[in-house]
Amino acid sequence: MKQYDMWIGGQWVEASSGESFESFDPYTGKPWALIPRGTAEDVDRAVRAAAEAFQGPWSRLTASARGELLLRLGELLVQHQDTLAETEVRDNGKLIAEMKAQMRYLPKWYTYFGGLADKIEGSVMPIDKPGLFNYTRHEPVGVVAAITPWNSPLMLLAYKIAPALAAGNCVVIKPSEYTSASTLEFAKVLELAGFPAGVVNVVTGLGAEAGAALTAHPLVDKVSFTGSDLNGQKVYEDSARTLKRVSLELGGKSPNIVFADAVLEDAVKGVVSGVFAASGQSCLAGSRLLVEASMHDRLVDALVAFMKQVRLGDPSDAATQIGPIATPPQHRKILDYIDIARAEGATCVLGGKVPEAPQCTGGQFVEPTIFTGVTNRMRIAREEVFGPVLTVIPFETEEEAVEIANDTPYGLAAGVWTQNMARAIRMVERIRAGTVWVNTYRANSFMSPFGGYKRSGLGRENGIASMREFMELKTVFISTADGVANPFILR
Ligand code: NAD
Repeated sequence: MKQYDMWIGGQWVEASSGESFESFDPYTGKPWALIPRGTAEDVDRAVRAAAEAFQGPWSRLTASARGELLLRLGELLVQHQDTLAETEVRDNGKLIAEMKAQMRYLPKWYTYFGGLADKIEGSVMPIDKPGLFNYTRHEPVGVVAAITPWNSPLMLLAYKIAPALAAGNCVVIKPSEYTSASTLEFAKVLELAGFPAGVVNVVTGLGAEAGAALTAHPLVDKVSFTGSDLNGQKVYEDSARTLKRVSLELGGKSPNIVFADAVLEDAVKGVVSGVFAASGQSCLAGSRLLVEASMHDRLVDALVAFMKQVRLGDPSDAATQIGPIATPPQHRKILDYIDIARAEGATCVLGGKVPEAPQCTGGQFVEPTIFTGVTNRMRIAREEVFGPVLTVIPFETEEEAVEIANDTPYGLAAGVWTQNMARAIRMVERIRAGTVWVNTYRANSFMSPFGGYKRSGLGRENGIASMREFMELKTVFISTADGVANPFILR
């Protein structure tokens, strides 16, 4: 068993309680690492270290010097990509093929935001009163709590801390209790980059303990949370008590909408990668396939044929296409939803159970599953499953497609497949979601804002827009007159 420590105030430390919990390998079902169970006391230490660094060494660095540290971190991540990829595969069950590609891409978050650090400009403002010079400046919010989920720990962490650090904040990270190891390995790389002590801290532990202590802490100025909508709501409520700034990246039930004029092979690839990549454990999963009725059977047959050929198995084997489910509760939840779909009257045309293949018996696998005969009223079409389960809903007209697409509490993403560009643009305008893909799915970039409408969240990550989530806007008035240039001052 590998024993990890937490990274607080520039030191590797155990939990103050001395307690640890086991982290499991989803492929073998066996524990492989011990993670410190951080308490409110550890959170307090980390937040104070961050607040001290914010007042002290970090605030004395120029924006350019901050940027250079991020660029250095980007270079070091390239050097350590294999360890990070292998840790994520072990702890999360993510495919090695996916992780290798992800780790090649991840450094770009740090180099992009490192480059942005010294390019955030305030404005000299026009002012309607004589004798006043008026300008604005962007300042860091202060101490940022970055709370991350288990499904893509390193990538989703980069969405938060790259802009937060570039903007001049200090950070306390709380990774998911199911997948903390890669964030602790990442902290080792951070240490090599030479950030001043306390600028970044990692406290591991349970959501209701360490996570809740962070959102309650009076010295935390901003909470950036990615996770389920129910916990996001709780975090929002808890943060409101001390009026913290909050951004939330939550769940989804995204429609992938295929019109009959779409290119069939392209749509099949887009639907498959939309919902079955990462075993469906993606916030942006296109889990509701809305298909024009005249194309329904052709598309479903092609999807079933395609999915029958995919290889499930060991995530550390580069040939594996679908790996295990990351956590035991998530595995149970997916199987429960499959039961619910059957009980609601949906027809299972693919999968629908735990696979029996010998390479899957030790781990938490679910067969890629497709349900037809689904209506948008069913729970399987309304609630986030977060697994390899696709629901197929037919529609007759463009109007009906828009209506079904928007009839959801969520609004994270959507896909539209058609060769009619005028229709594609009409769909883009009418769909209530933070991202819409046309004739593609899943594309993302460090440059492009990402976030949700409705129950899918609050705020945006990535791109220049995300820097604003970590900054306050200050307005400055300076008198240029003899005396006090303000008509409202009593004389
Ligand atoms: P989760 O809500 O269970 O946990 C997320 C994090 O919050 C964990 O670190 C957890 O320990 C912590 N937490 C739990 N309760 C807390 C509390 N009361 N106070 C503070 N912290 C608390 O989510 P999960 O199961 O880890 O992740 C899956 C969910 O994340 C899915 O709903 C998925 O859609 C969503 N997600 C969204 C995005 C996005 O960008 N919109 C990206 C990835 C995942």
